[in-house]
Amino acid sequence: MEINLFKRIGKGEYPSRLFIGGLHGKEGLSTIHAIKSVEDIDIKEGKLVICNLTPSPYLSTLDPLYYLSLAGMKVIELIKKYQPKIYLELHCYHPDKKNKLINKDRKDLFGVPGLVELEEGVMIGSTSPLIRSVFFDLNDFPFILEMPCDPSAESLKVSNNIMKIVARSTDRREIMEEIRRIYPEQIQLLNEYFTDFSQNFWPAFQETKKNVANIELKTFQDLDGLITGIIREERFNLNSAQLKQLGQALMVWREYNLQNHVD
Ligand SMILES: [Zn+2]
Repeated sequence: MEINLFKRIGKGEYPSRLFIGGLHGKEGLSTIHAIKSVEDIDIKEGKLVICNLTPSPYLSTLDPLYYLSLAGMKVIELIKKYQPKIYLELHCYHPDKKNKLINKDRKDLFGVPGLVELEEGVMIGSTSPLIRSVFFDLNDFPFILEMPCDPSAESLKVSNNIMKIVARSTDRREIMEEIRRIYPEQIQLLNEYFTDFSQNFWPAFQETKKNVANIELKTFQDLDGLITGIIREERFNLNSAQLKQLGQALMVWREYNLQNHVD
């Protein structure tokens, strides 16, 4: 898997920030422009690593197979190496896919809430739960920024503004406060999604991780049974798409050998 732009900015270690563009398909051809817009940014505290990947076969980041593909493995390698508290994926979409991304039914269909539009077709939201649950702490900032493919100067300006805020902040709280000044309603919605995630998917995943060590999983049905039992007992509010995703997140976690880091 090739990287066509890689740069480490800032002399410090912490906080560690990582921006990745072009995770799948030909998105890198568009996101390179956004990545380049922060190439010369000044980082006073900690570091910022920026990189852009070359084209790869398209697999959704909500598909667990993505994290077993060359591109997905590269992404996880970078996350494991830099252990960012602040992580931003840059994606692009074609206009006919916009509704699918911001649709209110997205949570029922795909287990994740719709992305939130800022301006000029630029949208923001959380990264795939498949990595968010496995590689990040609850209060980290693992986000994605979606811009139209072949972004206009206006879309790039909106993206660049967000990227600068994210690059210069030291934690999630600061980033949300800064973005709130410009987009208050969007941040309110994102905070509602965060509360829901914090109270349901996140604790359900932690609970599953804890319990999975104590039972022998021979089949997918064993895992399903474990998850269903936990959800029923703890009354977590998860729909069927999310239940499936919880099992998939657990597979990603096991695949990357994190069993010993149960907390
Ligand atoms: Zn994408």
